[in-house]
Amino acid sequence: MSDELIQSIQKSLKEIPDPETGRGLSKQIKSVEVQDHTIKADVGITSFALPIKAYFQQQVIDHLTTAFPDKRILVEISDYHRAAMPLGQVGLKAKAVIAVAAGKGGVGKSTAAVSLALGLKKAGCSVGLLDADVYGPSLPHLTGTRGQVTKVDNKIVPLQSAGIPIMSIGFMVPPGEAVIWRGPMLHSAVTTFVRDTDWGALDYLIIDMPPGTGDIALSLSQLLPLTGAVIVCTPQEVALIDAIKAVGMFRKVKIPVLGLIENMSSFICPDNGKSYDIFGKGGAKEYAAQDKIPFLGEIPINIQLRKRGDAGKMAENFDDAEVAPHLEKIAFELTKCLAEKVAKEPTQTQLPVL
Ligand code: ADP
Repeated sequence: MSDELIQSIQKSLKEIPDPETGRGLSKQIKSVEVQDHTIKADVGITSFALPIKAYFQQQVIDHLTTAFPDKRILVEISDYHRAAMPLGQVGLKAKAVIAVAAGKGGVGKSTAAVSLALGLKKAGCSVGLLDADVYGPSLPHLTGTRGQVTKVDNKIVPLQSAGIPIMSIGFMVPPGEAVIWRGPMLHSAVTTFVRDTDWGALDYLIIDMPPGTGDIALSLSQLLPLTGAVIVCTPQEVALIDAIKAVGMFRKVKIPVLGLIENMSSFICPDNGKSYDIFGKGGAKEYAAQDKIPFLGEIPINIQLRKRGDAGKMAENFDDAEVAPHLEKIAFELTKCLAEKVAKEPTQTQLPVL
């Protein structure tokens, strides 16, 4: 009887998609026990899915509760390792490559890209940050990373900030030097960033894209499969028009738009605690709902956030009770969206590299 029950619990668990691959859980089911009226299950997830660990745990509990309503359900989520496989021709090892883009400059795209990378890293994922904004590289400034990259065994060694490898054109040309980029040069710079850089094995590579233009997006998508783009915008109507253009541009080059982030959403006055919607409110969320684009969250206007950006200490935002929940939510929502996407279209079983 108990054996039968255990088998049917395992069968039920196998119906749950793994948040990284979308395939039913199998080897990740580490143990199933039944004691009197209690079912205890231990399920492993990869570091890729750690931002949604608690959410996934609840999903497993709900699934087992529906299947075994007369039992008490205890679920533990533990670590499971699955190696990242080389992507495309360039061989970059990353499980997801996310382009963070905006219709125009100054909306906080780089701030959002760094925050997303830090949020994922804080949850336990392995993350890389690539500054593809060759016209105005701001990642060296925002992450407080200075210096020139070096080469080891013919591969560029990225600089590091808060445990995140970072690569930027700012580490390759002297600061303040103007570079005029033409098409082929852009392509070769992007190739250097992804092919010739030693990123290690990543769960997420977050790419800070240049505003507006589609050139880099095209170059990147020729080199490796981009998982998708996240569009950053501010609440004003004019900013939304640019964001809609950016969405159109990505769709045109067949890069999925994964979600929208609204930056500078509201301002909580430190003097009186009142919230002011300086640039308006709700437009981006409404547009996202209309166009069926997931809304990943909003970042308020915050003086400390700007100061920490200027000081290259953005990791400190995660210790700030006013800002941290907004940034953590964005990492959570992105991973949740990706998990929902693969649940609909599971990735192929990875073949062993010979
Ligand atoms: P973009 O990449 O779109 O050009 P940045 O991320 O470089 O924009 O941000 C531009 C400036 O605005 C930076 O000084 C940054 O610190 C500041 N900033 C961005 N978002 C916020 C915010 N939510 N609150 C306060 N300052 C912000």
